[in-house]
Amino acid sequence: MSTWGDPSLLDKPGLPVPRETELSKPHWEACRRGELLVQQCQDCSAYIFTPEFACTQCLGDRLEWVTSSGKGTLYSFTVIHRPQRPEFEVPYVAAIVELEEGWHMLSNIVDCDIDKVQVGLPLQVCFVPRGDVVLPMFKIAGD
Ligand SMILES: [Zn+2]
Repeated sequence: MSTWGDPSLLDKPGLPVPRETELSKPHWEACRRGELLVQQCQDCSAYIFTPEFACTQCLGDRLEWVTSSGKGTLYSFTVIHRPQRPEFEVPYVAAIVELEEGWHMLSNIVDCDIDKVQVGLPLQVCFVPRGDVVLPMFKIAGD
């Protein structure tokens, strides 16, 4: 069994942090509040992530931030054994999560037995501080 995701290992100096932009600011501010926001097109109802100025489905510009349940399933994943930088603890799980609203995001699975990770696992968002940002990551639901 190998468990990854001790929060003290996810907030070490030298680990990369996302750069907040005017466009992505509502998403990052919500993460600090423990909320997962996603843009939704008010014309065609598509969920848009990562943040955009226009809908990637219909090109409409009426995008609004809405709250996601943060519940989803594991759509795809890989286990990383070779760190991109020495600050990364390995192995870790890089995952594409399918949120229950039907949109996808790239993230990590934390506090999990890596040997038990499989496509279709139910997941729940959790929020992990790193520097002055808070990153949305996922735990296995019910664990
Ligand atoms: Zn649209």
